[in-house]
Amino acid sequence: MTAAGICGSDVGIYHGTNAAATYPRIIGHEMVGVVAETGASVQKLKVGDRVIVNQVTSCGHCYPCSKGRGNVCDHLKVRGVHIDGGYREFIAVPEADCYILPDSISDRDAVMIEPTTIAIQSCTRAELEKDDMLLIYGSGALGSSILKIASQICDHIIVADIQDDKLETAKANGAEHTINVLNEDLVEKVKRIHPYAWSNRIHRCCLQQGFTDPPFKCHRKRRKGHHHGIFNCSHRDQSVCHNSQGA
Ligand SMILES: [Zn+2]
Ligand SMILES: [Zn+2]
Repeated sequence: MTAAGICGSDVGIYHGTNAAATYPRIIGHEMVGVVAETGASVQKLKVGDRVIVNQVTSCGHCYPCSKGRGNVCDHLKVRGVHIDGGYREFIAVPEADCYILPDSISDRDAVMIEPTTIAIQSCTRAELEKDDMLLIYGSGALGSSILKIASQICDHIIVADIQDDKLETAKANGAEHTINVLNEDLVEKVKRIHPYAWSNRIHRCCLQQGFTDPPFKCHRKRRKGHHHGIFNCSHRDQSVCHNSQGA
C-alpha cells in the first residue's frame, strides 16, 4: 500500500465510537497501492500496476447482488470497518476490487477518489441542475467535495458551517453565499438570498458537532416521482437518500 486516507469514520473507529466497526481492526478504506504479486487466476492486473482498492466487499449471491447492487449487499463488509483495511504494507484482494490509476493521478490525490464518488453520487441523486438553489449544510471533507462537483453543475450554492475558515475556502471554491450558523440565522438568511429557496432543493451533508438538524424540511418535489426529501450525505448514512424512491 502506498497511501490511505483518514476519514471522519476512521477517527470514530480509533476512538471506539463507530457503531459499525468491529475490533481488532486495521483501518483505512480509501486505499492506493502497487500490485506486488498476482495469483494464478488474475487476468488483467500485472505487477507494478498502480491501483485503488474498492472498500466494499459483497457476496455476489444475495438479491441486491443479483441486481448488480453489491453496494447494498445483504452480507456487505467494508474494508477498514468490518474487515481489515489499507493501513498496512500489503493487502490481498480480488482482482475485480482493483481499479488501475492513470499516471496523471498521484497516490495522494487518488485517495480522494472515494469521497469524490460520494459527491458525484449525491449530486446525481439530487438531480442537480444549473438553476437550482443548493444548500450544503456542513463543509467538511464531504461537504467540500460535494461543493467541487456541484459547482460544475449548479450556479447558486449556499454553504453553511460553523467555522469561518471553512466558509472562506467554500467561497473560493464556488459557493455563491456562505452562512456561519453560529452567528447568523440560517432560515432568515436563506430566505433573504432566495425567497423561493423553500420550494427548491435543500442538500444537507456532513453534519459535525455543533450542528443541529436544519430547522426546515426540504419542500421540493423530486423531478421524478413525488417524494420530498433531504439528501443526507453525512458519513454516518453513506449518502443514503431519505424518503426517496430507489434509495
Ligand atoms: Zn470514508
Ligand atoms: Zn450480496
